[in-house]
Amino acid sequence: MFDYLIVGAGFAGSVLAERLANGSNKKVLICDKRPHIAGNAYDFYNDAGILIHKYGPHIFHTNSKEVFDYLSNFTDWREYQHRVLACVDGMQLPIPINLDTINKLYGLNLTAFEVEDFFAKIAEPIENIRTSEDVVVSKVGRELYQKFFRNYTRKQWGLDPSELDASVTARVPTRTNRDDRYFTDTYQAMPKYGFTRMFEKILDSPNIKIMLNCDYQEIVREIPFKKMIYTGPVDSFFNYVYGKLPYRSLEFKHETHDMEQFQAAPVVNYPNEQAYTRITEFKYLTGQEHKKTSIVYEFPQAEGDPYYPIPRKENAEIYAKYKALADAREDVHFVGRLATYKYYNMDQIVAQSLTEYSKIIGLKRKEASVYVAPKDKIIIPVSIKQPLNLNVPAPKTNGNGKNVVNNLG
Ligand code: FAD
Ligand code: UDP
Repeated sequence: MFDYLIVGAGFAGSVLAERLANGSNKKVLICDKRPHIAGNAYDFYNDAGILIHKYGPHIFHTNSKEVFDYLSNFTDWREYQHRVLACVDGMQLPIPINLDTINKLYGLNLTAFEVEDFFAKIAEPIENIRTSEDVVVSKVGRELYQKFFRNYTRKQWGLDPSELDASVTARVPTRTNRDDRYFTDTYQAMPKYGFTRMFEKILDSPNIKIMLNCDYQEIVREIPFKKMIYTGPVDSFFNYVYGKLPYRSLEFKHETHDMEQFQAAPVVNYPNEQAYTRITEFKYLTGQEHKKTSIVYEFPQAEGDPYYPIPRKENAEIYAKYKALADAREDVHFVGRLATYKYYNMDQIVAQSLTEYSKIIGLKRKEASVYVAPKDKIIIPVSIKQPLNLNVPAPKTNGNGKNVVNNLG
């Protein structure tokens, strides 16, 4: 008899599996309907030998020392500061909008103080900021909103920014300095051998059994277990009794090019003319050296795998009904981006999972997050401050059992 059946081997399911198995000596069965672990963070070496992210670019960043320290038990890191350009008026300009964005776009030579006045003049005062349109227009005015945000958001979400919660575009700040990093979090780093390798280590415990290609509905009545942790879509768990919760999907178009570098930045956003929202070039993210390069286009769509909960009032109201059902189920814990219908980043999901575990065992989160390696494991503490030595042994598998070649330079 398993103590827990965990549905989904993404961050939520895998962190809880690890904590329950190693922190509480519970027997865990984790299943995923996909043929691999790591959920949407899954990466693998493609036919050309380039490490790519199957479900679009995943960049790790967090302000939580606890989350960073917890994951550091399972991976070394490669320091990485993410940068994005937006293709606007035929130019590639830094996004988040900063001093250089304004100077290049308008052919100006403003200082940081002058650009503050510039924004103050064009911003539209809005007393009560409610929507994703309000957030941007109140900071940089309507013209910049239209060039950088309106069409990107319409494409990405199938909705006008005025129909989306403020939290969506509020993810992208506005700056008056020349900082062109996409994130400013304290910890910004990529797992040195990739996400999948990190997940292999998270799940590496004699107390954890993994079943891939397995929808939980195929086994839930066949395999005995005491409690369930569910990380799939919450509406599907309850058979859509309150109707479907809208999720936004994407189609990923992967390409490999016979050139060392495809574009001028790790990600280039295309707010306006194209059907896709952005192109990512993976070698920037992973630091891999290779004669070829692999990229991915993201085409937003309504149908398909659920990738993004859609933050708006109507949906929050439907979710509240499902949450009431979920809260009433003492035998099931609902955790993760799909099960709690939250537009959360990876680190927020790790934090949410550690919190859930601490509730399960009745300890404070800080104490509940302490990883003690099983006796036969030698753990070498790592720090992102260490100089990089990429000349390291190859990862053994790509998460679905196939051997991989190490092309990290
Ligand atoms: P998931 O990773 O979705 O895992 C849930 C798992 O449950 C899936 O593997 C699914 O197959 C499985 N499952 C569902 N239903 C069933 C079922 N019935 N039976 C069995 N298994 C089931 N975050 C960042 O921090 N930085 C980024 O740069 C970033 N970029 C992103 C880019 C894209 C395109 C997307 C879509 C997301 C991005 N994220 C990023 C968010 C990140 O992917 C999530 O925060 C994180 O993966 C959520 O983990 P999770 O475990 O909740 O869900
Ligand atoms: N956004 C935009 N233009 C951009 C970048 C972002 O309009 O150039 C808006 C868009 O609505 C997007 C949101 O800001 O969905 C959040 O952007 P982020 O890059 O955080 O999205 P994610 O990486 O989660 O897809």
